[in-house]
Amino acid sequence: MSLKKQDSKIYKAIQDEVHRQQEGLEMIPSENFVSEAVLEALGTVLTNKYSEGYAGKRYYGGNTFIDVIEKTAVQRAKELFGVEHANVQPYSGSPANQAVYYALLEPGDKVMGLSLPYGGHLTHGWKVNFSGRYYHSVPYGVDQETHLINYDEILAMAKKERPKLLIAGATAYPREIDFEAFGRIAKEVGAYLLADISHVAGLVVAGVHQSPVPAADVIMTTTHKTLRGPRGAIIMCPRKEDRLKEKYHADSKWNLAELIDRAVFPGLQGGPHNHQTAAIAVALREAATADFKNYGQQIVKNAKVLAENLLGHDFQLVSGGTDNHLILIDLTNKQLSGQEAETLLDEVGITVNKNMVPFDTRKPLDPSGIRLGTPALTARGFKEEDMRIVADLIAKTIHNPKKELVKKETLKGIKELTDRYPIYTNLA
Ligand SMILES: *Cc1c(COP(=O)(O)O)cnc(C)c1O
Repeated sequence: MSLKKQDSKIYKAIQDEVHRQQEGLEMIPSENFVSEAVLEALGTVLTNKYSEGYAGKRYYGGNTFIDVIEKTAVQRAKELFGVEHANVQPYSGSPANQAVYYALLEPGDKVMGLSLPYGGHLTHGWKVNFSGRYYHSVPYGVDQETHLINYDEILAMAKKERPKLLIAGATAYPREIDFEAFGRIAKEVGAYLLADISHVAGLVVAGVHQSPVPAADVIMTTTHKTLRGPRGAIIMCPRKEDRLKEKYHADSKWNLAELIDRAVFPGLQGGPHNHQTAAIAVALREAATADFKNYGQQIVKNAKVLAENLLGHDFQLVSGGTDNHLILIDLTNKQLSGQEAETLLDEVGITVNKNMVPFDTRKPLDPSGIRLGTPALTARGFKEEDMRIVADLIAKTIHNPKKELVKKETLKGIKELTDRYPIYTNLA
């Protein structure tokens, strides 16, 4: 029986969401459109199967084909990023970071990551998150003038605080992260370096963002952001050996790779989500193509053109622009809050998210900024000339909050763009 007949309520909501994605401008920088092949792998009987353990060492029978899938995903991740070890089982990015903490730290150990109001992720030590509650978080921020990460300040702070884990990575930082500089700091103070490349993994693959492989002890990435895969995460070890074994794990018989695997299962998770693993494998194969390289490069080109054109419309951008896939607009000069802008843009089908800006004087639920990016639009085929139009549409909407005629024109402009670059034509 088809979903449509059996459960019309859920069927209709799914179809409505298909149309929302097809007909709007999806500009949340952590979102993307997966390929039809990835979608196909997700909707399979693999969801039925239990397979606790790892390929060849399962706690359930019947895993011949699951082993093929998981081994393929692991192999592809290792080749794509150039690392010695990969674990593809984490359910998503937050559980993956939890596994890294579980593998390397004891409760109460000191961690140093970018504070959430300055662009860091919840799991990098924010107080209401497990990472701030069970570990001793000493967060760093960004420079008040430039809004950039200040590596000298982080070094000075790390020397004083002596964290066991230093985290490099962000969820709302529009500039390239210097993993090499973080690596030097970690070495100098005897800390592990976790590079969380969730947002920029696709850019790293495309060669338009510095790779963390030479510097990091552990790399975590979600698979559903610029990497264009299903929801999920991968934890990687560039080198299997534990660089700080003598200092922190002298009595352990495990190397770094084994510590990570044991933290994911049986430390934190039970059975892996095999439909997700298969879809990750498909996405990793796509990411290894020349097309994907072009895609990653185009994401950055599009973001730069969008930023230039927003500046032309008198928008203030955090750090003055972008090096990557995302832009943070500080709306203070527009007499409009982040929440108001998000709602206004939502009404015409431009999806962004409200966001704190560095040194924000407003509250997290109604901050001064919005965060937007180009990964999803670029996946549809948008190019530089389209980004100019997108910037115009955003500016018109923000500058004319109450004019119905402007709203009508904007809706027409969006329809022209989305008609030119259709997606999921088989689903509508
Ligand atoms: C998105 C993100 C995560 C968490 O991913 P979820 O899948 O939402 O749990 C972790 N770290 C960073 C830097 C992210 O951007």
